[in-house]
Amino acid sequence: MPATIRVLARAAPRMRAAGRISRYSTSPPPPPPSPPPTKPPRSLSGAYLAVALAFAGGAAGLAYRLQAEERQLQPYAYSTHAVGANERLTPQHTLLTVPLSPAEAALFADPERGVTVHHVMLGAPQIQIERPYTPVNDARSGDAQLVVKRVPGGEVGRLVHSLSPGQEVAMRGPLPTFTLDPEQYDTVVMISTGTAVAPFLQLLSKAGPGSTQFRLLHALPGPGRDDWAQRFLGPLQAKWGDRLSVQRIPPGAVAASDVKAALKDAGRVLVFVCLPPTLMQPLCGYLTPTLQQGPLTGLLRDIGLRPEQVWKLE
Ligand SMILES: Cc1cc2nc3c(=O)[nH]c(=O)nc-3n(C[C@H](O)[C@H](O)[C@H](O)COP(=O)(O)OP(=O)(O)OC[C@H]3O[C@@H](n4cnc5c(N)ncnc54)[C@H](O)[C@@H]3O)c2cc1C
Repeated sequence: MPATIRVLARAAPRMRAAGRISRYSTSPPPPPPSPPPTKPPRSLSGAYLAVALAFAGGAAGLAYRLQAEERQLQPYAYSTHAVGANERLTPQHTLLTVPLSPAEAALFADPERGVTVHHVMLGAPQIQIERPYTPVNDARSGDAQLVVKRVPGGEVGRLVHSLSPGQEVAMRGPLPTFTLDPEQYDTVVMISTGTAVAPFLQLLSKAGPGSTQFRLLHALPGPGRDDWAQRFLGPLQAKWGDRLSVQRIPPGAVAASDVKAALKDAGRVLVFVCLPPTLMQPLCGYLTPTLQQGPLTGLLRDIGLRPEQVWKLE
């Protein structure tokens, strides 16, 4: 597995209270702000999947400005943005819409070949925290639409849920989550629950139907919870037709029978897994503590997939 491929921590640590700060390092030489790569940084065993550097880890460190002094969206400094809309989807989920200028929308560009899924960081500079969120739409259309879950005691979730249209939110990005050239695969399988479906909604929004078959296994909400995802899946199903199959699976552990059905006649296949650690572990094993892919274990290995056929998303 390429050692340089990295994914993000789901919960970001607190920022240091300094003018310029780093996620991991106390000496932060900031990389120059740059648009997403035009090519994936590294191919994955001959395949064309690559996870771009979302932000540097270890000694490299990534610096960004603590204060939201800017107006223009950029990856490594916060800018302030007026909220366009904030629609409550369920008691736990809100759909935050942040309008983007044409220049900002263009930052969500794809490489020459393939599709790059991006996330942004929402911050609360006054309390020195930030968290990543993945637009569920193609932000090149002129706004970033974020479905943000409010979790008990969650700091940024609480902030986002409190925002009204016209109020300002601090944001930086976009940052590449991964780049995929679908044409390198006959079948792309995506397995998710809850807001972890966001990268797949964005991928399906940005990509155009071609010869690749997309199969999404997305968990139904738990008893008594509203199914907010269906609102986004319906239009995507209409766009993709028989090139997309969406199967809603029961909440909890992913059943072997569902995975095997999704892999039937899959040909050259890639499986994305975006699940909480407790569900990821029996399916394919954890990411490592440093957010490398780690060994492929569990059900996906047992049914014969090779490590390069599986990509775990935090
Ligand atoms: C690349 C990436 C993209 C992401 N995209 C999205 C997205 O589109 N929408 C979204 O809602 N989240 C997304 N997340 C998760 C998000 O970044 C935050 O971790 C999450 O919103 C919690 O932040 P918080 O500040 O509200 O809670 P915190 O203050 O970080 O956490 C408060 C408490 O809640 C617990 N907690 C954290 N997350 C959850 C959870 N999901 N369920 C139950 N308990 C939890 C924590 O362990 C902690 O005990 C993404 C994460 C990554 C890495």
